[in-house]
Amino acid sequence: MKKLEHIGIAVKNMTESHLLFEKLLGVTAYKSEEVLSESVFTTFFKTDSTKIELLAATQPESAIAKFIEKKGEGIHHIAFEVENLETEIIRLKKEGFIFVDEIPKKGADNKRIVFLHPKNSNGVLIELCEEIK
Ligand code: ZN
Repeated sequence: MKKLEHIGIAVKNMTESHLLFEKLLGVTAYKSEEVLSESVFTTFFKTDSTKIELLAATQPESAIAKFIEKKGEGIHHIAFEVENLETEIIRLKKEGFIFVDEIPKKGADNKRIVFLHPKNSNGVLIELCEEIK
């Protein structure tokens, strides 16, 4: 894996959290984008070492809505950038990891993404992402 690409944080109110993280990080968001396939609205911030992705549900059945219902707001996932998603999926399957869905989807911020099931990674939801070239 190349690097920690971003940390995803589930929020209830994007308008409020967008302002909060601008104040916290001292930078303005560089992108806001709806991801229809995941029923989420996302906002991205850059820091020197990684990015912060805020995620708010756009539908009650969104995974983010369910996450907040169960656990409240907070860190939802961490995302690692990989060179080649298909190669990493094969490698990790051999190592016994399971995927939420092993077919890559179009994610936010010009990425193809998959999620590893948190059951096999100490309860941490891990996203793998590959930049779309
Ligand atoms: Zn993410």
